[in-house]
Amino acid sequence: MTNQLPKATIYMVKDNGNVKVHTLVSPAPMFANATHIIELPSELILVDGQFFAQYGQEFRAMADSLQKPISRFYVTHDHPDHYLGMGDAFADVKVYALPEIISSLLVHGPHELQQKQQQMGSLIAGKLALPTEAVEPGEEIIGGTRFVFERVLNTESPSALVIKLPELGIVIAQDVLYHNAHAFITGSVEGWKTVLKELRGIEGYDIVLPGHGTPADKAAIDNALVYLDKSSEIFSESNNAEDYKLALLAAYPSYAAAKLIDIYSPILFGSQEH
Ligand SMILES: [Zn+2]
Repeated sequence: MTNQLPKATIYMVKDNGNVKVHTLVSPAPMFANATHIIELPSELILVDGQFFAQYGQEFRAMADSLQKPISRFYVTHDHPDHYLGMGDAFADVKVYALPEIISSLLVHGPHELQQKQQQMGSLIAGKLALPTEAVEPGEEIIGGTRFVFERVLNTESPSALVIKLPELGIVIAQDVLYHNAHAFITGSVEGWKTVLKELRGIEGYDIVLPGHGTPADKAAIDNALVYLDKSSEIFSESNNAEDYKLALLAAYPSYAAAKLIDIYSPILFGSQEH
């Protein structure tokens, strides 16, 4: 593989002596996609698959460097920046998702792949690694560690998987939380704010892993709530997608993933032309 894009950054999030949690974040202009590895004593659990093929490959190389088998790969929701990048790199891995996400990806995945390949060529993986295994909300012990799987509705996407690791004090929130990154907003954010406030209130978790941006703590939730209010305010004051984008960039000049605004703002302003 030749690297065409700047490299992703790797973070060691937590090591409790038994379990390690690692995060790989793509560069800020490349969506700052955050994907995670829960390193159990004798296996790896992975969460989310990047957008660009190169970062899918870098994520695979990071997993392989830990020299343990990948037993499960969870895809949290059906946005392409969470599954397109993993197609070539994780073709041999069992992929899990909520049942409605499996159905959605079976329908929309092939078209999404073809469209993005036409737009971006070899930056996009050659094939899909679609989920085949359904995850249902509830608790499960995997490799001696408790996992709590939750379905959240009406946030950044209609349905998304959130994974809690109570023994590690970690919530893998993915796109429920954007951390110093522009959020993907296609309509009302009221349901999303409700979920963020619930997340802010739960006891026993001090690390929140976002789907975009670096590993965070609960203060990032407060910032995300302010951001959603600010974006709503700017939306109500903007005449079109371009004005909206400029105002949001001016309000948050240092935020990652500005490209997301270009992708979602036509949807937000009701001119879906694709
Ligand atoms: Zn995303």
